Amino acid sequence: VLFCLWVVSAEAEYLKYKDPKQSMSTRIKDLMKRMTLEEKIGQMSQIERRFASTDVMKQYFIGSVLSVPGDTPGLNAAAEDWINMVNDIQKAALSTRLGIPMIYGIDAIHGHNNVYNATIFPHNIGLGVTRDPDLLKRIGAATALEVRATGIPYAFAPCIAVCRDPRWGRCYESYSEDINVVRTMTEIIPGLQGDVPANSSKGVPFVAGKSKVAACAKHYVADGGTERGIDENNTVINRTSLYSIHMPAYYDSIIKGVSTVMISYSSLNGEKMHTNRDLVTHFLKDNLKFRGFIISDSEGLDRITSPPDANYTYSVQAGILAGIDMVMIPNNYAEFIGNLTLLVKDNIIPMSRIDDAVERILRVKFILDLFEDPLADLSLVNQLGSQEHRELAREAVRKSLVLLKNGKITSQPLLPLPKKAPKILVAGTHADNLGYQCGGWTNQWQGVSGNNFIVGTTILSAIKKTVNPSTQVVYQLNPDANFVKSNKFDYAIVVVGEVPYAEMLGDSSNLTIPEPGSSTINNVCGAVTCVVVIISGRPVVLEPYVDKIDGLVAAWLPGTEGQGVADVLFGNYGFTGKLARTWFKSVDQLPMNVGDPHYDPLFPFGFGLTTQPLKMN
Ligand code: BGC
Repeated sequence: VLFCLWVVSAEAEYLKYKDPKQSMSTRIKDLMKRMTLEEKIGQMSQIERRFASTDVMKQYFIGSVLSVPGDTPGLNAAAEDWINMVNDIQKAALSTRLGIPMIYGIDAIHGHNNVYNATIFPHNIGLGVTRDPDLLKRIGAATALEVRATGIPYAFAPCIAVCRDPRWGRCYESYSEDINVVRTMTEIIPGLQGDVPANSSKGVPFVAGKSKVAACAKHYVADGGTERGIDENNTVINRTSLYSIHMPAYYDSIIKGVSTVMISYSSLNGEKMHTNRDLVTHFLKDNLKFRGFIISDSEGLDRITSPPDANYTYSVQAGILAGIDMVMIPNNYAEFIGNLTLLVKDNIIPMSRIDDAVERILRVKFILDLFEDPLADLSLVNQLGSQEHRELAREAVRKSLVLLKNGKITSQPLLPLPKKAPKILVAGTHADNLGYQCGGWTNQWQGVSGNNFIVGTTILSAIKKTVNPSTQVVYQLNPDANFVKSNKFDYAIVVVGEVPYAEMLGDSSNLTIPEPGSSTINNVCGAVTCVVVIISGRPVVLEPYVDKIDGLVAAWLPGTEGQGVADVLFGNYGFTGKLARTWFKSVDQLPMNVGDPHYDPLFPFGFGLTTQPLKMN
């Protein structure tokens, strides 16, 4: 009888942490009391999808999994395929002793950019131009829906870097060189996560249900201030400038309930941010009362190189003691887990530090309702690439364009362009190329070229749809001057720019328009009235051509909805965008930012000509 009673009571054991009627803090405390050191360290580990087999998930009690760019369940996998993939990993996590759900994260940084058929919004550099926080909030909400449509509850966005030097290969991930613009744009966070309730305590993360995702403010801090714009380099800065230029957007993000913060690879005055206890623990956690979790960058601990004899054990120790809660370790998870376990057993890392990390991670999981509702269903699949989201992206494109020149000084404005011209030329490598339009972090880490695997509208097809049906549109990738002269074109639209890149592979010290783009400008603009549309992740050198060009438009990296460019070129809408970056004359001037003493730009910060929309009948 006693034995039977024991079995019955064991079966019916009441687990407080599983009871949604208990308060979140009671549930977290109860769960943590039950967890072994191994289970806690597992929570702190985020591994790459391709390593997340059922065995690995169960053996190491892995707490989080990520998809790196290009890591898809198939090149044009549908939302359903993603859901199945994520759910399979989740089921493995749920089958462990305590059944703690894992949290799946992905770089959805301009829409759900790793997923086929997703709506790709302009990269941040274009969004900064809009100065429109309401638009950013709507983009955040649409992105959250598309990410959730694929079963994923966590996006590594937004990047709130303040890029101070366009030679940096991540400049396009930054909204602006100006902190006030970046602060305004943090409104994407309540879009992604929902509005923080009025009674919420400062610093407590918030996610409003299953149509929202946990966001990540990155990369903390001063990633955009590195010397010579070299990625992951050192930022040399005094305290006043650090707190007035790079820090305020973190303050805003925390007020807006951001769930996580990612640490920057870069160093600050010689110290790797991944070891900076003062700024990570004392400032973010203690002073700003941030209660979400802090995540390392991918292999961020591996890149801790000082002192010169630093080995991996040292890196794990320094990173965790600095205050990092979750470590993004795509593949060497066993080494990380082994090292951290020993460091705790040897009392080098106190148990209180581990508990702090785990409590924060569990909090975000409870806030996301992952305990009650861990598996994704098909209810949102129609959100991916929906017409409504594409319309929103098109609006964002329209507002992100900056008109830098409109007609020769003595002549009439050229734009908006007449739709009724008999014959026009469209030229350039970027006119009919969705990969180029979207830039880096689309489909692959370094972006792609061409129209495969991205669903959208190229600028060329948008132009064809917008002009009068009787207008003949001739498209040439790179016409020579004779071709241009021997045809009777009313005008030409040249679309050229940078070829996609990401992170350090985009660092550049010359910032020129690569060939054949510059030749195309020279060939076409000498021969016929021309409008040049620049597709780029930053200002580029324009001085050699600017006098030849009749109309000049900065379109940044507009994403899938090229129709937004045609909408404005042809006057269905007016140009409204204002530069969120200084457009330099020559690279010798860099870094040069608004407010600098020797400010002598080609086009200043805030510049942008306007046009009136034509009356539509
Ligand atoms: C980047 C992060 C990104 C992470 C995961 C890193 O290389 O710096 O911005 O979130 O990879 O893909």
